[in-house]
Amino acid sequence: MAYTPMIQQYLSIKEQYRDAFLFFRLGDFYEMFFEDANRASKELEITLTSRDGGGEERIPMCGVPYHSADNYISQLIEKGYKIAICEQMEDPKQTKGMVHREVVQLITPGTVMEGKTLSEKENNFIAAISVFENDTYGLAVNDLTTGENRLTLFSGGWEEAVQEVSAVGAIEVIIPEDLSEERRYELQQQLELTLSEEKDTTVPEPFQPLAKKLDQKKMQMTFGRLLQYLLRTQKRSLDHLQPVEYFENNQYMKIDVHSKRNLELVETIRRNGKKGSLLWLLDRTMTAMGGRRLKQWIERPLLNRSEIEARLSVVEALKERFFEREELRDQLKGVYDLERLAGRVAFGNVNARDLVQLKKSLERVPEIIEAVRKLDNPKADQITENIDLCEQLVQNLEEGLVDDPPLSVKEGGLIRDGFNEKLGEYRDASKNGKEWIASLQQSEREATGIKSLKVGYNRVFGYYIEVTRANLSLLPEGRYERKQTLTNAERFITPELKEKEALILEAEEKMLELEYELFLNLREETKAYIPQLQRLARQISELDVLQSFAVISEERQYTKPEFSKGREIEIQDGRHPVVEKVLEEGTYVANHLSMDENREILLITGPNMAGKSTYMRQLALTAVMMQIGCFVPAAQARMPLFDQVFTRIGAADDLVGGQSTFMVEMLETRYALSKATQNSLILLDEIGRGTSTYDGIALAQAIIEFIHHDIHAKTLFSTHYHELTALGDELDRLQNVHVGAVEEDGDIVFLHKVVEGAADESYGIHVAKLADLPDDVIDRASVILKELENSVDVNDHAGEKARLSEKRQSVKEENGQLSFFVGGGRKSARKTRNKQEEEALKKLKSLDLLSITPLDAINKLYELQKSLSEKE
Ligand code: ADP
Repeated sequence: MAYTPMIQQYLSIKEQYRDAFLFFRLGDFYEMFFEDANRASKELEITLTSRDGGGEERIPMCGVPYHSADNYISQLIEKGYKIAICEQMEDPKQTKGMVHREVVQLITPGTVMEGKTLSEKENNFIAAISVFENDTYGLAVNDLTTGENRLTLFSGGWEEAVQEVSAVGAIEVIIPEDLSEERRYELQQQLELTLSEEKDTTVPEPFQPLAKKLDQKKMQMTFGRLLQYLLRTQKRSLDHLQPVEYFENNQYMKIDVHSKRNLELVETIRRNGKKGSLLWLLDRTMTAMGGRRLKQWIERPLLNRSEIEARLSVVEALKERFFEREELRDQLKGVYDLERLAGRVAFGNVNARDLVQLKKSLERVPEIIEAVRKLDNPKADQITENIDLCEQLVQNLEEGLVDDPPLSVKEGGLIRDGFNEKLGEYRDASKNGKEWIASLQQSEREATGIKSLKVGYNRVFGYYIEVTRANLSLLPEGRYERKQTLTNAERFITPELKEKEALILEAEEKMLELEYELFLNLREETKAYIPQLQRLARQISELDVLQSFAVISEERQYTKPEFSKGREIEIQDGRHPVVEKVLEEGTYVANHLSMDENREILLITGPNMAGKSTYMRQLALTAVMMQIGCFVPAAQARMPLFDQVFTRIGAADDLVGGQSTFMVEMLETRYALSKATQNSLILLDEIGRGTSTYDGIALAQAIIEFIHHDIHAKTLFSTHYHELTALGDELDRLQNVHVGAVEEDGDIVFLHKVVEGAADESYGIHVAKLADLPDDVIDRASVILKELENSVDVNDHAGEKARLSEKRQSVKEENGQLSFFVGGGRKSARKTRNKQEEEALKKLKSLDLLSITPLDAINKLYELQKSLSEKE
C-alpha cells in the first residue's frame, strides 16, 4: 500500500536530512514520524502515538507544539543532535492540494544562535577540517553567534590535528566525506564532537572578500568547507561573518587536551564545571564578551614577549589606579553583548529592546575611552585607538525608539513620538477618536438622564453604549440602534460611534504596520554597523579582561612577573592560585622554586597528600598566567617563556580506571617525550604507579634519563619510589626535593613546605590513619612494614622480590592464617565474625601488596573499611 502524499513528502525531505531530527510542521505542531519519533519520544520524554499514513502499518509519531519548540530543540542540541526545521511554505487555507514544505534551517550544536544551550561567557565554536597530502591539515573555526572566523594550516600528523581541534574548543566538526571511520570515531568518542560532512570546498561568491588574506589554495578550501556548510544549514545571508584571521599554531603556548584538563584551566576534572578552575578564579569580567575573550586567552597563552609585556603594563596601570579602574568597571557593566547582538541583527532576530540596549551600550563608550585615557598607558591607548562611537546610529535609535519598548515588534508601542510624521497623524487620529468616545459617555448620560449608561468595547461588536434593562424606559425612542441583548442590559450603537470606531481601527492598524516598518528600517540601519560593532566588541572585551586581571591581582596580591634572561626560573613564595583561594585565608604555605641550566629536573618526594602535585601544578599555572598577561601568585617571579606545557598528573577519576589508566599514562608520556623541547615544561606525577613496583621504577628512571639527556625541558617529577632519589647522584641536572611532614604523637602533620633533598620515610600508613581506618588494620600494617624493612635492602634490587615474598609468607605463617589482628586481639577474641568481616578478611588476604601502589592500597583499605561499617 502506498503512503499518503503527506507521508511521501515527509519521506522525501527526510531523505536529505538523515542525520537530523526532522521537525515537520503540521498546523500548530512540529511532528516527527517513524524512527525519529521513536527516538525523540525517549530523548524528550514525550508521548509516542501513531497515525495511519496509508502504509501497511500505523506510523509512529510524536510532536511538540510550535510555540514551545525552542525548549525541545535546546534539549536535543544539548545531547549533540541536529534538528532540521521544516515549515509550511504556503497558507494551508489558501492551498488546494498538498501544502508545500521546506527545511528552512538545520540547527546543529555548532550553529545554534539562541536558547539556553548558549552560555553567555562562552563561545560556540564549529570547526571544519581538511586533510591534504603530506600530512598537512587545514582547520577553520567559526562562532556563528559572533561571526568570528579563524584558520590555520599545519603538518604533523593526525594526532596533532586532533589536538588542534580540541584546542580550539569546537563542539561540532565538519569533515570531508572520505575521512576514515577510525578517525571519525576518534573525533566523536574521544573529543565528544558532533560530526557533519561537507564536500564542497569552494568559497561562495559573496564571502570571497572575507577570504582575501588566504593566499594558499589549501586555506581557501578549508574555509570554503566551513562556509558552504554554514550556508547550507542556515539558508540565509550571514552578513555578520567577519574576515578570517589566519594564525600559526606555534604562535601560542601549546597545552594538549589532557594537560588542559589536568591543570583545570577552564573546567575542573571532577565536576566538569567552571567553578574551581583557573577561568573561574580569574573571571572578574563585567561583560559577556570579556568573559568569552578571557576563556580564549586562557586556552591560548601567548609566546610573544612584547605582547605579554604590553598586557602586563595595562594590568599594572589598572591595578595601581583604583578610581580609573572602578570607573571603567562601572561603565563596562552597562555594556550589552554587542558581538552576539550583531550576529542576531544579521539573522534578523533582534527586537526593539535589543536595539535600545545596544544604544545604551554605545552611550557608555565615550566614558570608557575617557577612563582609559587617564591611565596614560600606550597599550591601553592602542586598544581604544580609532574606536568608532557609531554616533549616527546612537542618535537614530534614540530618536526612533521609546525608552522601554515591548518585547513584541508587531504590536506597536515601539516608536517614539515625533519620529515619523505619518505615524503622528495616525496616533492623533486614534487618540482623538478615543477621546471623543470617552466624552460620549458623559454627554449621553446628561442627555438621557441615565446615570448608569456606559460606553464599552468588545472584540466582536466593537464600541457600544450599554443601558441596563431597568433604565430602558428612560431612553428616547430611536436615539440608538439596538445591537445586542444581554440578560440585564441592552447594547446600542450610533452611526457616529461606528464612524469614529472605523477611524480608530484604521488608524491603529496602519500604526502597527508603520511602526513595524520603521522598526525594520532601524534594524537595517543597524545592520550596516555590524563591522564597527564587532570591532568595538573586540576592543571592549580586551579592556574587560585586562581590568579583570587587575582586580584579581590586587585582591590576591599577585606580583608582576619578569622574564628571565636565560631559561632560569626563580619564584619566591609561589602559591597555587586556586587552592590558595579555596583554603581558609592564610593557611596556604607558599613555596620557592628555583631552576636553571644546572637544575633542570626536580625529583619531588614526600608522603601522599603532602602537596607534591599542588606544587607542580602551581608552576604550570603560574606560567600560563604570566603568558596570558596576568600577574602571578608569588612574592617575586622570574621566568622564561614556555613553548609547551605537558602534564601527566594523576586525576581523581584515574583511581578507578585500572589497566587502561596505565595505558593512558604511557600514551600521555609518549606524547610529551616526542613533542617537548628545551623550552617546554613537563610535569610528571607518580609516573609508573599504574604498574608493578619494579616495572614502575624502571620506567620512571628511563623516562627521567631520557628527559635529562635528550630533551632538557624543565621538568618536575614526583614519585613515591624512594629508590629513584638515588638518581640525584647520577644525573647532574637532577635535584631531589621533598615536601616535608612531621610526626606528632604518631600522627602525621603535613607542612606543605618544599625543601631540598629526598624524603626519607613512607608515610602511607599514617595517611591511612588519618583516613580513620580501623586501628587493627593500622597496627597490622605497621608490623608488616617493620618486617619488610628489616628484611630488605632497598637498594639491592636483584633478588629482592623473591625475598620479599618469602618474607611475607613467613610473616603470614608466624601469625597464623586467621589471627590477622595483632595484640592479643581485642577483636580476634570474638568468637564469630559476621559475613562482611569474613569477606573483608578474604579480600585483604588476597591483596598482593608488592604489586600495588600506596594510593591503590589506601583505596582498597577505604573500601574494606566501608564494607565493614555497612550493616548486614
Ligand atoms: P600529593 O600530590 O603530595 O599527594 P596534593 O598536592 O594533592 O598532594 O595536596 C593534597 C592537599 O594538601 C591539597 O588538596 C591541599 O588541600 C593541601 N595542600 C597542598 N599544598 C599545600 C600548600 N602549599 N599549603 C596548604 N595546603 C596545601
